[in-house]
Amino acid sequence: MQIDITPLERYLSKADRITLVGHFNPDGDAIGSVTAAYHYLHARGKHPRMILPSPYPENMSFMEPEDPAERIVICENDLEQARALVREADLVICLDLNRLSRTEYLEQDILSTKAPKVLIDHHIAAELDRFDTAISTVEVSSTCELLFQVLLALPDVAGDPARIPLRCAESLYVGMMTDTNNFSNSVLPGTFEMAAKLLARGVNKDELQEKVLSCYSVSRTRLLGHMVKDKMKVLPQYHTAYMLLSNKEKQRYHFQPGDSEGFVNLPLAISSVQVSAFFSENSDGQYIRVSLRSKGRINVNKFAIRFFNGGGHHNAAGGRLYMPLEEVPAYFEAALAAWPDEEKFS
Ligand code: 5GP
Ligand code: MN
Repeated sequence: MQIDITPLERYLSKADRITLVGHFNPDGDAIGSVTAAYHYLHARGKHPRMILPSPYPENMSFMEPEDPAERIVICENDLEQARALVREADLVICLDLNRLSRTEYLEQDILSTKAPKVLIDHHIAAELDRFDTAISTVEVSSTCELLFQVLLALPDVAGDPARIPLRCAESLYVGMMTDTNNFSNSVLPGTFEMAAKLLARGVNKDELQEKVLSCYSVSRTRLLGHMVKDKMKVLPQYHTAYMLLSNKEKQRYHFQPGDSEGFVNLPLAISSVQVSAFFSENSDGQYIRVSLRSKGRINVNKFAIRFFNGGGHHNAAGGRLYMPLEEVPAYFEAALAAWPDEEKFS
């Protein structure tokens, strides 16, 4: 893939205070790409700062800078500081989001800042015209893979991974590893090339895997068992399985942010299941978070757009429902029945 980084390099060379923004409910790719960009820019002598709209799972905190004053600003904890970082930036870079509304709180702030706005993202149908320059493709596993290619193309790295700071390389690896579910989906030849180059750079893959993937509590593992044994519903006529997680269950199993990460993938291990859905009550009860996964040709991105106020990728998408949890099964089954074949297999 050819990436034109000329406009980006022009903005980077002129900017000092660079604000990096990821998406609401940040996953490994959002945290990985934002912290990777931070570590690169910091090593380049810039003054980058990071914003995420909502808190992230504790097991990702090792990617944060050591200096407490430089840590990620979370909108839900300090919206005023987040807004000031957007307002006072020389350059704003959004990572791993295709629409400014995925920043939840900062859409208007980002639109009204005078600083140039850059997008680096791997989702379908990105809002390209809202940015001064956009590096956007779906032909990569993750935003971290795209960012890796962008960094290699910048003049100071000049194609040599050894010139990428180690902490940046680690964040890039984590984002790719989590978005591919540890090399099980959306993996392209370039993904393995990236992994090979990062390992050669000195990234300790086993250590990162242990930190990020083997980090859970006893109660989280028991919750997983409960979901699979007692909550998973299989709908053979739709080759679909789904699970609902209520706030009551979250309390019972001492739920921590990130604890249900990956649950949606479990039913896909069943040969007859082609689509998996996971619905969880938001902690303040305002909406239901939806996660969708599919195998092969089945397109859950359009399904998420049409029925679940969301979007995402071909085989992995998400969204929200504004209804009580008890009403979700009937709504979901009606959506499966109404899902047009031409969208399902597009
Ligand atoms: P997850 O199920 O892991 O939360 O999300 C899967 C994919 O769907 C992610 O790549 C994410 O970008 C996308 N996604 C999740 N939630 C939303 C949402 O509310 N809106 C949109 N547009 N995409 C979402
Ligand atoms: Mn991503």
